[in-house]
Amino acid sequence: MALINDHFLKLPTNYLFADIAKKVNIFKATHPKTDLISLGIGDVTRPLPPVVINALHHATDEMAAADSFRGYGPEQGYDFLRDAILKHDFNNRGIRLDREEIFINDGAKSDTGNFQELVRWDNSIAVTDPIYPVYIDSNVMIGRAGTKGNDGRWNNVIYLPCTPENGFIPELPRQRVDIVYLCFPNNPTGTALTRDQLRQWVNYAIKNDALIFFDAAYEAYIQHEDVPHSIYEIKGARKVAVEFHSYSKTAGFTGIRCGYTVVPKEVTATTLTGERIALNPLWNRRQCTKFNGASYLSQRAAEAIYTPEGQKQVSATIDYYMQNASHMKQVLRDIGLNVYGGDDAPYLWVQTPGRMTSWRFFEQLLYNAHVVCTPGVGFGPAGEGFVRLTAFNSHELTQEALRRIARFY
Ligand SMILES: *Cc1c(COP(=O)(O)O)cnc(C)c1O
Repeated sequence: MALINDHFLKLPTNYLFADIAKKVNIFKATHPKTDLISLGIGDVTRPLPPVVINALHHATDEMAAADSFRGYGPEQGYDFLRDAILKHDFNNRGIRLDREEIFINDGAKSDTGNFQELVRWDNSIAVTDPIYPVYIDSNVMIGRAGTKGNDGRWNNVIYLPCTPENGFIPELPRQRVDIVYLCFPNNPTGTALTRDQLRQWVNYAIKNDALIFFDAAYEAYIQHEDVPHSIYEIKGARKVAVEFHSYSKTAGFTGIRCGYTVVPKEVTATTLTGERIALNPLWNRRQCTKFNGASYLSQRAAEAIYTPEGQKQVSATIDYYMQNASHMKQVLRDIGLNVYGGDDAPYLWVQTPGRMTSWRFFEQLLYNAHVVCTPGVGFGPAGEGFVRLTAFNSHELTQEALRRIARFY
């Protein structure tokens, strides 16, 4: 008899986006003639930059000839991409890293979910609330999160509420924690940390011998000088932080799949007897066992982003989405809603009017404005009373959605 990993049974069966789809489908069945606009999509919509398409064509042609065919690549990723990352994302920003500290992945979701394998199940973890669900759920799966209470909180997880009162900047935990997940610019609140604010977290981790798992998936959306693009801009972070990057939102790679994880050689965790163990060789060992590398095509596609043409094309797409974000913010504020985020991220975090629940406001927007959003409570208890709107739709549909919302209010 095979025994199940019963931690999986603790996970809620309904995933947020399945619940949303169900409600949207009911609406569609009862209103077959009404067209809906989604400001709920967490996926990009603009096509890939031309440099990426060229690189994909070229790499495909290489696969077609025996003398340029590529089979298994290095588990850590090809040097051409690791070197491009080092130069453009780090060295040019004054950050020193080695090639061996960069691990190419097939997107940040896998690695943000998988990295917790390197640390014991009985570490304490802290997360910001609201949060990208992957961080908690991957910890639930190996039993680190404990059990879920009626208040929607896991009993072994320390929640760091992000609210209008603290400007969506999590306060340092009062108790000592072993591991903190941070994602800035943030999904879902769309807010960012300044260099000074992030420095406090790095200092906390150094002082408390904690690890920071830093998700930089939205780094490319940063518009402000004082917002760091990498946690390694902060002194001392190399000792305490692992950083996850993704080309998904940067360059439209949600379908191509590529990103990278930075594991500096100085980052350590300890054995029960206090011996310090470097995480870099452990992650390398883990990857060599469980991962056979991102595809050659994806890696050539990612390399192309770093050419001067690629950089231009990528920022044009980001500007496109950020124009949506600023337009959305302005219109929604004009009609009297409290709107946060959207300055360094493609997300707006909108407070529901009159303290309505997230789901109630979701239904109001659905039935009265024919606009789909994402209920904030789906990202954690502190998300109650908010919805998330995304800037990933086209200019035309975004503007039409705003007209509809404005007409209703
Ligand atoms: C979209 C997103 C990612 C990227 O996921 P991929 O697997 O790279 O597509 C990572 N973290 C957060 C918070 C995200 O929203």
